Amino acid sequence: MEYKNVLTVCPYCGAGCGLYIQVLDGEIVGVLPAKEHPVSRGKLCIKGWNATAFVNHPDRLKKPLIREGGSFREASWDEALSLIAEKLLQIRDTYGPQAIGFFSSAKCTNEENYLLQKLARSFFKTNNVDHCARL
Ligand code: SF4
Repeated sequence: MEYKNVLTVCPYCGAGCGLYIQVLDGEIVGVLPAKEHPVSRGKLCIKGWNATAFVNHPDRLKKPLIREGGSFREASWDEALSLIAEKLLQIRDTYGPQAIGFFSSAKCTNEENYLLQKLARSFFKTNNVDHCARL
């Protein structure tokens, strides 16, 4: 039997609380707050205590889905990203850059959020950028 606590950051919001993921024989079995973490100091909200609940949930999406007609089919990342790029360019060229908006996430790093707004503003020429933490 092998047990370890893996130090990480809660994935649910920008507060960035510290927690340990409890791993037993390669399986996640729980979460513990990190007392030494400078942000959370041993505290977690209910989302943090359940930060790993999605990992093995049967409803978790693990592959992109493309809507065809009234249903979805699984696709590769390459296919899904190519379709997204094609559709965004089509919308921009047909209706103009203000017809496009980008939503980012508190679950992303600052660097990832920076890159998304850079893509929106520099390439697509739109300032329509928002963030889930504001919604
Ligand atoms: S524990 Fe709660 S407050 Fe802390 S980062 Fe996670 S969601 Fe945010």
